[in-house]
Amino acid sequence: MKYLISQFLRLVPRKYLQLFSLLAAKSLSVFYLGNRVECPVCNHHYRNFLPYGRVTIRKNALCPHCLSLERHRLMYMYLKEKTGFFEAPVRLLHIAPELCFLKKFESQPTIEYITADLESPWAKVKMDVHNIPFEDDSFDVIICNHLLEHVENDIRAMAEMYRVMKPGGWGIMQVPLNPERETTYEDKTITGPLEREKHFGQKDHVREYGRDYPERLRMGGFSVEVDDYIKTLDPVLVQRHALKFGGHINFGDMIFKVQK
Ligand SMILES: [Zn+2]
Repeated sequence: MKYLISQFLRLVPRKYLQLFSLLAAKSLSVFYLGNRVECPVCNHHYRNFLPYGRVTIRKNALCPHCLSLERHRLMYMYLKEKTGFFEAPVRLLHIAPELCFLKKFESQPTIEYITADLESPWAKVKMDVHNIPFEDDSFDVIICNHLLEHVENDIRAMAEMYRVMKPGGWGIMQVPLNPERETTYEDKTITGPLEREKHFGQKDHVREYGRDYPERLRMGGFSVEVDDYIKTLDPVLVQRHALKFGGHINFGDMIFKVQK
């Protein structure tokens, strides 16, 4: 089973991964009936979440109903509890939109919702994040998760997001981060998929972020708040919603909130 999951994630193109995963997850959900875990995004409950992972498979990670992972569930709770995101009217730019948030954000009458990506089938606007086709000061909120590790010039992409953000606006910009690294590891001469996987952790990653990630966001123009939000939560809730990332790269343990 572990081998199948990891092969599946490696072979299905990124563009179609969420769609195929949704079909696979829905058909498996019948085996996971129960009430030990609950997804705060879709409110469905199960015996366990599905296992998930590319290299190391984490148990109890993927919601069979909405495909949320640990980091999505954590971010959703953060948005709800710490930002007022669902209360005040906002114009939202959601880059590389995650399937688990689409319906939620779309159905929210206070959100003017614009999804954007270079290749995602869910995105309404096809765009390159190096050249965002919107005017300066256009958005109250920008959400852009797990994209910057794929783009050629991340500082330029950050500067573009800063440009289109309204003064006083804010955003969430999560990346996979290796806390063992003091500085972000980048090498433009590494271009082959297998080499990239070996050096940066995945065949379509072009760098591996280190502890200097907030500094890079500041280079893009933002002020940055790093919130160890998960540590403020009741451990019973952390377990119930399976919020903790189990692998060696702690994707989801910190929330990176940027402001203009
Ligand atoms: Zn869910």
